[in-house]
Amino acid sequence: MALRTIEEIVARRRMCEIMEVQTEIIHTLTECFKENGFRWMLPVMLSFVTDPLWPEPSSTQITAPEVEIYGKKMKLMHSMILHKQIAVSMGLDRIFILSPNIRVERPERDDGHHAYEFTQLDFEIAHAKMGDVMHLVEEAVCRTASKVRKTVWDRFEREIPVFQRPFKVYTMEEVMKDYGSDRELSKVSTQPFWITDISREFYDKEDETRPGHCLNYDLVMPEGYGEVLSGGEREHEYEKIMTKLQRSNLSPSSFWPYLEIARKGLLKPSAGAGIGIERLVRYFTGRQHIEDVQVFPRVPGVPAVV
Ligand code: AMP
Ligand code: MG
Repeated sequence: MALRTIEEIVARRRMCEIMEVQTEIIHTLTECFKENGFRWMLPVMLSFVTDPLWPEPSSTQITAPEVEIYGKKMKLMHSMILHKQIAVSMGLDRIFILSPNIRVERPERDDGHHAYEFTQLDFEIAHAKMGDVMHLVEEAVCRTASKVRKTVWDRFEREIPVFQRPFKVYTMEEVMKDYGSDRELSKVSTQPFWITDISREFYDKEDETRPGHCLNYDLVMPEGYGEVLSGGEREHEYEKIMTKLQRSNLSPSSFWPYLEIARKGLLKPSAGAGIGIERLVRYFTGRQHIEDVQVFPRVPGVPAVV
């Protein structure tokens, strides 16, 4: 049941401990990225282009709200994926951002995993392959687990297992055939795992040697906590991007000036991902609902109290 009054929100007693864990998580992740040569960019929250979130199969089609700025309509960011590719084209070869995202999820997406305002640790690496990203993420997640293990035991009596690297890898086809969904596999798992080859947005790269297959990945946490990261190698060639936009029935006019940069041949090959901070905090603290880790809850279908 979503918190509906200001009294319910301020009466919550575990917020200090949850923010203590969140602080350790963000500190460990950002330290790990910094040590691996990344530059920390600040987010943009408004733009003419953002992530279409379509045709990602697990995402219901949602439209970015717009705000009029100096007579022009700008979108609130769904994610910084396209800006990351543009930043990489400027020579920022290893970047990360703590990026606030607004996604007006439908009320039926109130499943404990979705909020309509959340933060991603979003990163991108020029010329990287999916194996490079998976290796880096495993390092970051295992370091985070080591860092918070004692605190979450002391504060919540929650036991986090020692993660075994490399994490197990499934294809989406295998997961669907054997478990029906990633969430079901998460429920019966005790270790984090990867799912690869997921059919979704145009910017994730199609495998040239295996048409119809994608060089992308999700990281899924065990015990039913589900997906905490999505990413992929990226399309950077104009013709391929245009073909995939048309295939997804997306209007190229919604992607200017990103497409203009692609047309000039300035996008570079890259790979990256976005880690949902609230979802990671929810896993480590063992909370049931994402609103339990948001100081100001943003539950789909429920107007915010504050
Ligand atoms: P995506 O690329 O759309 O999968 O988003 C990247 C990551 O952001 C996901 O793996 C989640 O951890 C997180 N995320 C996406 N949508 C939401 C949401 N509605 N609420 C909370 N976290 C989200
Ligand atoms: Mg995803």
